[in-house]
Amino acid sequence: MALNNSKKFFDLSKERMPGGVNSPVRAFSAVGGIPPFIKRAKGAYVFDVDGNEYVDYVGSWGPMILGHAHSHVLDAVGNAVGDGLSFGAPTEKEMILAEMIIKRVPGCDLVRLVNSGTEATMSVIRLARGITGKNKIIKFAGCYHGHADSFLIEAGSGALTFGQPNSPGVTNGTAKDTLIAEFNSIESVEELLKNHGSEIAGVILEPVNGNAGCILPNDGFLKQLRLLCDTYDCLLIFDEVMTGFRISRGGAAEYFSVIPDLYAFGKIIGGGMPIGAYGGKKDFMKEMAPVGPIYQAGTLSGNPIAVSAGIATLELLNDEAYEKLDSLGKYFEDELQKIIVKNEIDICFMRIGSMFSLFFHLGPIHNVEDVKKCDFTMFAKYFHGLFNKGIYIAPSQHEVGFISLCHDVTILDFTLSKIDEVFNEIMVSAS
Ligand code: PMP
Repeated sequence: MALNNSKKFFDLSKERMPGGVNSPVRAFSAVGGIPPFIKRAKGAYVFDVDGNEYVDYVGSWGPMILGHAHSHVLDAVGNAVGDGLSFGAPTEKEMILAEMIIKRVPGCDLVRLVNSGTEATMSVIRLARGITGKNKIIKFAGCYHGHADSFLIEAGSGALTFGQPNSPGVTNGTAKDTLIAEFNSIESVEELLKNHGSEIAGVILEPVNGNAGCILPNDGFLKQLRLLCDTYDCLLIFDEVMTGFRISRGGAAEYFSVIPDLYAFGKIIGGGMPIGAYGGKKDFMKEMAPVGPIYQAGTLSGNPIAVSAGIATLELLNDEAYEKLDSLGKYFEDELQKIIVKNEIDICFMRIGSMFSLFFHLGPIHNVEDVKKCDFTMFAKYFHGLFNKGIYIAPSQHEVGFISLCHDVTILDFTLSKIDEVFNEIMVSAS
């Protein structure tokens, strides 16, 4: 794969931006090599500045569920642009997008639009603290909730006891208010609640831990969390920035029939434009300014272009769309399992709807500690093998792949044949 122009731009970018990128994973540090500089995208494909074409499973990290540059979304954005880019005043479209979210998501009576997933999660935590009058939160090792200080806390006993920031710049004071539990271990949550229950404002998690890989909640895990939060009088918060409008029409809450008190959203609700949102039960959301005393605001919040792209995207996400995404996901899984068995590679494949991960470990994978047992060298070989054959997956074992409504069976078959070739190459080089 010739990457001459990408290499030139990457070198120049590194002199102008830290690592040459505006978000770390884009730099390919986990797998090495030159990231392709993308020029344009259409449907299931992205095209780079050297004229290479890739089948895309990154999907801008989740938002592009309809496929890239969908005409319905582009038309909506084009029309909105003609009316002006930002007003800093209420619009009818914000009301429409809010209604679309509320109608789909169970137990979400009111929403506030913001500009990113990070802004949504940091605001929702402030709300939880304001409502309960308590300071601490519980998060799970391996769950990512954006880059606000409260969430950049590493797992482990040091974090549990003292609160260790895992990014310099996060103060110890902030870190000690974030307690770390283990995904899929209800005991780890119960233990924290027993010891700190009176201080805990909320428990926040990705209901499917998509930022460690695609890790599903064990049967009953989310329901047990709901019960524990009720018992200890703290709020249950689902970060559905990734799962929302992805794994079902109403996200993980609908899929698993567990209703949290508060939600964070992002990605799909902006159809590829910068957006986030948080929401939940009316009594809680009414605590936000200007109705209540808890403050949060934004110059560009509810931006008309982002909102138009979000509305157009959600308009096409009906029941049939989710059935199609699930059947494409299932086809991919079934065919891939045959290839895995044939090649006798230790791989655990996990999927929910159109979100999936292929772990280089026999599994089972229940949490981020299990992911750490994966063969990361194998993953890097697999990544580059596919990349050189025109398949673009996220450059990290800790990320998921996304199938869009533009990925048909022909594209999946092409991808599967390339995976088969790469497995063969990996096995030959290992023997
Ligand atoms: N929460 C989750 C579950 C996410 O996956 C992400 C982004 N990958 C975020 C929060 C942060 O969103 P953003 O990058 O838009 O700030």
